[in-house]
Amino acid sequence: MADEPVVWIEAESSDMARAIMAAQSTFPEFARHAELEHFRIVPAFGLVAIKAFFPDPARLTRGEHMFVTDIFTNGRSVTGTLASDPSDLPGLAAGQEVTFPIANVSDWFLVLGRRGIGGFTTDVLKKHVTAAERAGFESQEPLVWYQHRGEDGASAELAAAPVCTACGMPDLVARAHRTGACELCAGGGVRCDCSGCGAPLFRYPDAPRECHHCLVTSRK
Ligand SMILES: [Zn+2]
Ligand SMILES: [Zn+2]
Repeated sequence: MADEPVVWIEAESSDMARAIMAAQSTFPEFARHAELEHFRIVPAFGLVAIKAFFPDPARLTRGEHMFVTDIFTNGRSVTGTLASDPSDLPGLAAGQEVTFPIANVSDWFLVLGRRGIGGFTTDVLKKHVTAAERAGFESQEPLVWYQHRGEDGASAELAAAPVCTACGMPDLVARAHRTGACELCAGGGVRCDCSGCGAPLFRYPDAPRECHHCLVTSRK
């Protein structure tokens, strides 16, 4: 994934704060999709990732928003792998395992085929760069996943998602709802929390009530 321009590091704008709040408010539903993906032999998503803010210990109000993959959450903190090197943060490197509070999550990304869902902060990036810079960024990740949105943002896209007639939740993945019920409800599934750690889950009948991470660590 491409390195982020400095504007992302510096931006303390209300636009950025709003984008992060929107990503935070939908994070539990994203986390359910991310958890279920760990059980699939054939992945449903091309990419599951978040961005999180890593403060600079020497300059407390400064830091970098960085991509993290291979994530799991217990509903309070997130653990994952840093996907790139920071531009200027000591002690962090690509490939390193990191754990941080959910409050530090600044964005989430689910890519289905070539089409991304989430990516709230990419809308802010588009607004704060020149047309020439934007054209360059749009051919790279993460903006390349959001070409289909045009000028509409992540929140507008989610607001337009079909709402399930059974659970009343918008379907982030927005598959066709033939009966009005989402795939989860149509399959008899529910939203619940991991009985071990409290992670937000989607669960279908007869599936274990622990999250993938609790199941794997209890087997060790
Ligand atoms: Zn539903
Ligand atoms: Zn768990």
